[in-house]
Amino acid sequence: MTIEKLQNIIDISNSTVFFGGAGVSTESGLPDFRSPDGIYMSKQKYPPETMLSHTFFMEHTEEFWDFYRNMLYCPEAKPNAAHTKLAELEKAGKLTAVITQNIDGLHSAAGSKNVFELHGSALRNYCMKCGKFYSGDEVMAVKGIPKCTCDGTIKPDVVLYEESLDDETVSGAINAIASADTLIVAGTSLTVYPAAGFIRYFRGKNLILINRDKTAMDSAFSHIIHGKVGEIMNKIKV
Ligand code: NAD
Ligand code: ZN
Repeated sequence: MTIEKLQNIIDISNSTVFFGGAGVSTESGLPDFRSPDGIYMSKQKYPPETMLSHTFFMEHTEEFWDFYRNMLYCPEAKPNAAHTKLAELEKAGKLTAVITQNIDGLHSAAGSKNVFELHGSALRNYCMKCGKFYSGDEVMAVKGIPKCTCDGTIKPDVVLYEESLDDETVSGAINAIASADTLIVAGTSLTVYPAAGFIRYFRGKNLILINRDKTAMDSAFSHIIHGKVGEIMNKIKV
């Protein structure tokens, strides 16, 4: 599909929803999981799915925090053209919702309002004992396991492997997808479930994929652009 065609679809759609993954933030300098320079290739002692699992957090809390601080938290990252354009489209009434698998908070930072963060946010952390919240900066400032004033262990407010997604976020995301007439899926390998399965709720006309590499689900899409989502969205006029 050409960018002109994408522009045309966005212009005439009544309800466009964007569903993104780690590839939406690579142009902000955050590594994704499955690209050659992604976190999977960074040669850790264990695979990322293991290190980012609930079991690993409970049994190797200090190692979890070391990995998480080094690989997944990056306060310097700034929204790129994809995040910015989506926020502008929403403001102009041309985009209903952003659904993201990312935990970096960059859609909200760019100004998007209706954002469903399926996997939580690295900007929030909470005490597992008393529930008190801590910012990303607060937990980054300490070494080892961050502890609450009540001595409870602090955990990032992100959904780890083996954990379930937040009910309200899930139903909000599914409702948005089910009532959209255009769904733009971008920067995701569509391999992390249940999130990847959400696109099955789409009943609209235009199911669009913008992704650098092929995904396992390319054949499900009515329109595909292989390329960089920031560069592509940058060319869209609001
Ligand atoms: P993934 O790493 O499995 O796949 C990323 C996909 O994006 C790849 O298919 C790649 O070709 C594509 N891609 C990379 N850069 C791109 C670009 N500039 N433009 C277009 N496409 C691009 O990512 P996933 O499917 O989101 O699954 C990874 C899981 O890990 C997610 O659940 C997410 O929560 C988490 N994660 C989050 C972040 C973040 O918050 N920034 C970073 C890494 C991983
Ligand atoms: Zn506490």
